Amino acid sequence: MPEGPEIRRAADRIEKQIGGRVIDDAWFAFPELAVHASSLIGIHVSRIDTWGKAMLIRFADQRVLYSHNQLYGVWKLHSEDKPPNTKRSLRVRLSAQGRCASLYSASDISLWHEENLVEHPFLSRLGPDLLSQDTTAEQVQQRLRLKQFQKRRLGALLLDQGLVAGLGNYLRSEILFFTHLHPQLRPIDLTDSQIALLSEKIVSVTHQAYLKAGVTNTQAWIDQAINAGEPRRQWRFAVFERAGLECHRCGAVIERTMVGSRRLYLCPRCQPA
Ligand SMILES: [Zn+2]
Repeated sequence: MPEGPEIRRAADRIEKQIGGRVIDDAWFAFPELAVHASSLIGIHVSRIDTWGKAMLIRFADQRVLYSHNQLYGVWKLHSEDKPPNTKRSLRVRLSAQGRCASLYSASDISLWHEENLVEHPFLSRLGPDLLSQDTTAEQVQQRLRLKQFQKRRLGALLLDQGLVAGLGNYLRSEILFFTHLHPQLRPIDLTDSQIALLSEKIVSVTHQAYLKAGVTNTQAWIDQAINAGEPRRQWRFAVFERAGLECHRCGAVIERTMVGSRRLYLCPRCQPA
């Protein structure tokens, strides 16, 4: 499952393809969208945002195309004269000066006016997006102290997109490891400096994953892991995917558990219960 950093990178690719360009053709499979297709012609694509796992294509006239890929949707980028050879069903095609962005298989697609976007049933439940909304560590810290989150266990809370949007399963394990926190702890159990460190790592580890294509490990530990013969699947992470291997920090054996029916990796010595 892609997490915030992977969705943001996909948005960057769409932005590079059609961002700043003028739509000269729009096609939608769903009739409720198809009626708006011609009204997009001649309009600039202003920006591509993400919010959690939603993709938001913003147009210069303040309209926003919302799409959520769920498990099966996929964007393909191509030139107008070379549509992808695929058996998937086309749902959206935006063409801008010879360049196209085509969305296949997704079913959750709708067109909004910027002002009404906060009323969207999915988006209205999300916290601020870590990558598209420049969320700061101070903002995260304030949210961790909210009554509704204070008594939630970190293992579950970090996957709750209502806290902040963009965290997913590998980021959860990595952030808890970097902050020396056990997943059973709750914000209310933490000292001020632990809360501050957690907030800082929620922001910085997510940004690093975005900038480095999913690599959340530190360079020193990457070198150590590569020397030990670990494949990229393992060396890209500090703790995730490393069950049975030695902790980079203390040498204890990394454990894999299930928290919220998703796998979580931790060091029993660095992250005591
Ligand atoms: Zn350790």
